Amino acid sequence: MKKKVIIIGGGLAGLSCGINLLKNNFDVELFEKNNEVGGLCSGYLVNGHYIDGCIHWLTGTKRDNKFNDLLRKMDCLNDDVEIISLPTLGTFIYKGEKVTFYRDIELGEDKWIFAYPDDKENIHLFYETLRSFCELEKVMDQHVDKAFYFSEKVKKTINLVPLSKEIFLSMKLSRKEYASRFKSKAIQNAIINGQNGFNSMFFFFMEYAMFINGNADIPSKGAKELVARAKAKFLELGGKLHLNTEIALIIKHEFNVLGVKTKENVIYVGDIIVSCLDPHYTYRNLFQGQYYSGKLKRLELNEKDHKISSSYNLYLAVKDEMKDIDIPTGLSFEPMKIGVNEYDSMFFRPYRYEDCYKNDGKIVTSILVDQSIEDFNYFNSLSEEKYKKEIERINNKLIDIVISYFPYLKGKIEIIDFFGPKEIYQRTYSKGGAILSYSLNLTNLPTPTKFKSVSFDNFYLASQWNSPIGGTPNAINNGYLASLEIIKTFSNKKCEK
Ligand SMILES: Cc1cc2nc3c(=O)[nH]c(=O)nc-3n(C[C@H](O)[C@H](O)[C@H](O)COP(=O)(O)OP(=O)(O)OC[C@H]3O[C@@H](n4cnc5c(N)ncnc54)[C@H](O)[C@@H]3O)c2cc1C
Repeated sequence: MKKKVIIIGGGLAGLSCGINLLKNNFDVELFEKNNEVGGLCSGYLVNGHYIDGCIHWLTGTKRDNKFNDLLRKMDCLNDDVEIISLPTLGTFIYKGEKVTFYRDIELGEDKWIFAYPDDKENIHLFYETLRSFCELEKVMDQHVDKAFYFSEKVKKTINLVPLSKEIFLSMKLSRKEYASRFKSKAIQNAIINGQNGFNSMFFFFMEYAMFINGNADIPSKGAKELVARAKAKFLELGGKLHLNTEIALIIKHEFNVLGVKTKENVIYVGDIIVSCLDPHYTYRNLFQGQYYSGKLKRLELNEKDHKISSSYNLYLAVKDEMKDIDIPTGLSFEPMKIGVNEYDSMFFRPYRYEDCYKNDGKIVTSILVDQSIEDFNYFNSLSEEKYKKEIERINNKLIDIVISYFPYLKGKIEIIDFFGPKEIYQRTYSKGGAILSYSLNLTNLPTPTKFKSVSFDNFYLASQWNSPIGGTPNAINNGYLASLEIIKTFSNKKCEK
């Protein structure tokens, strides 16, 4: 008889885990608290405007690599899905000066040196290091069967590419520390704000290298359609989906988990349970504070060394093509409190590259500003009324800043949606409204959390949180890797990968 697996959480990790288990002859029932799957990776319509609440870039868009194969197995990507390649990773404006991260790096290097001859040597070193990262990025894909982290193997690989010293150094340095080697404030600003979240310079180089290699592009129609395809795959393989079903408790007996209890007190039993949501929430709520993983506790105690990234997201409908604005453009501004911390830069992203973002003569455009767990706590501490007022104040200020850069947009901007750390938590129960998991730097290396729980023989955890950095690739890869462990332990048949 087939073993029955209960999956809690229908984000990308839950879908990826479920799809591979179904392919390997398991029965799968997936429970999702919201009225749709997708979790943090969601796209939706607001008054006819399509909002992609996630994908700015998707790792694995390049053909013929293992991660792309995995995305295809889930039908997140297929031959009918157009991949959109933008010409720039971003342009950053600082006091009137524009610094662009071009896909064409020869062009980028020439333009930077022409504009900032005093920084010639450091610019050259930046681009040479980037070229090494492009080589490294191609090799790193080989490690997709392991969680994405810095194993000895990866370190050895780094040693093989040119400028490995600069690569190791970039792991230790924040973007701000790295940027300080440049004389130009505009280059400094571009590097400091070139990537959202709090990861080290290494990840900025890595993101840029993936972008140059065509491995971090945008699937047509974004998150909504990508998730819809994975959901259809799950159902087509015979998976059973319970939407609007929040799990309140995991039922256990000695060294086994037996089933789950919903918020409405309905019980479902299974042979194996996989929790594909935030593990902090799983331990704290679904196990009522018991069995808390020692590793997670240590990570939580040291959060300042590997901060969790959330974001403040404002969506606008703009009655203009904004053809002169690169996608995205980083706008710097006077430090301003957003939450408890001060921020001085936003990503401004006109989604004009596809028709689905155009409605009623307007283009969906987003503003994204980093947020931390302290900001989440601050927003959460406000009364409903104060919170509403504060968000209104910030949103108006952010729009004023956009208009100060692009005065022709005055009177053409309408707010269509907003979500910040508080709303992200409400939607997914992700710690502090995190959109990514613990950030990574070499001075404090949070190693991945195991899939199999030490407390139970048949309980697993799989989500972006198993690996530092997180993001869609880690969520999908970790869901898949957890399924492989389950198949190895509970199936006699040869595993279909
Ligand atoms: C604004 C934004 C921009 C982003 N941009 C990018 C990007 O450009 N590239 C990239 O790679 N990543 C990006 N990400 C991150 C990416 O979306 C996440 O890393 C990834 O989707 C996490 O997937 P997950 O399955 O691990 O977790 P989640 O998506 O959090 O899935 C967990 C699921 O469990 C459900 N759940 C929680 N508790 C319960 C319960 N008790 N019972 C039942 N169900 C429950 C939740 O509703 C959710 O659906 C972005 C995210 C956001 C929000």
